[in-house]
Amino acid sequence: MIITRTEDEINKLREAGKIVGLAHKYAQQFLKPGVTTKEIDDKIKEFILSKGCTCSFEGLYGFPGANCISINNEVVHGIPGDRVIQDGDIIKLDIGACYQGYHGDSAWSYIVGTPKSEKDVKLLERTEEALMAGLAAIHDGCTTGDIGAAVEKVAHKYNLGVVKELVGHGVGDKVHMDPDVPNYGKEHKGPVLHTGNVIAVEPMLNLGTADIYMLDDDWTIVTDDDKNSAHFEHTVLVTENGYEILTRRDIELDPEDVVK
Ligand code: MG
Ligand code: MG
Repeated sequence: MIITRTEDEINKLREAGKIVGLAHKYAQQFLKPGVTTKEIDDKIKEFILSKGCTCSFEGLYGFPGANCISINNEVVHGIPGDRVIQDGDIIKLDIGACYQGYHGDSAWSYIVGTPKSEKDVKLLERTEEALMAGLAAIHDGCTTGDIGAAVEKVAHKYNLGVVKELVGHGVGDKVHMDPDVPNYGKEHKGPVLHTGNVIAVEPMLNLGTADIYMLDDDWTIVTDDDKNSAHFEHTVLVTENGYEILTRRDIELDPEDVVK
């Protein structure tokens, strides 16, 4: 069942989303060569707790971290640990925050320092473009197939692999809810979305094959051919004529959260 949120619920989802967006800004300050993914995870957790929220992914289904941090050929669900970030790495931060029982979920990809190749730069630009194309398909009465088709069209234009086993989802008082929002599909097919529904759209696009597998840690998903992958995700509210980004990235950090 796809839940239509009340105004009070939407305000809580807005607050959760705002903190997720700010957590990305906060985390970016620490994304430098020589830092471990655990250090980044700890900083994000500290920030989220300081804002009166909890980390949505901490312990979710048994996940052994607070946020998912995936590098280069890792698609999603990387476990924070002692891996040291290198110059030119593509870092994917997937951050979730829960405010008064309601969640925000947003992943973003960043290149640390000097990019290793123009291909990597383009991969990020194009995956973000796919996310925005997917969002542009949203309005009252659209279907999840409309969103998937729009994402897939951008991926195909650039010959990028579309990960199919992992999908976007409804967001609310749980982080993963109905409906599934695949990054592929046919227009006018799939569940219909209405004003007041809240979903996460999250293309995962690969430079090479769409095929993936799971590492022995039972969490980290990597590309089958070891080529790089990018992931961009927003949690959005469906509105009558479009959508509202809840995990907005245009709010400035409080001055005390800015690292001098
Ligand atoms: Mg996410
Ligand atoms: Mg998600």
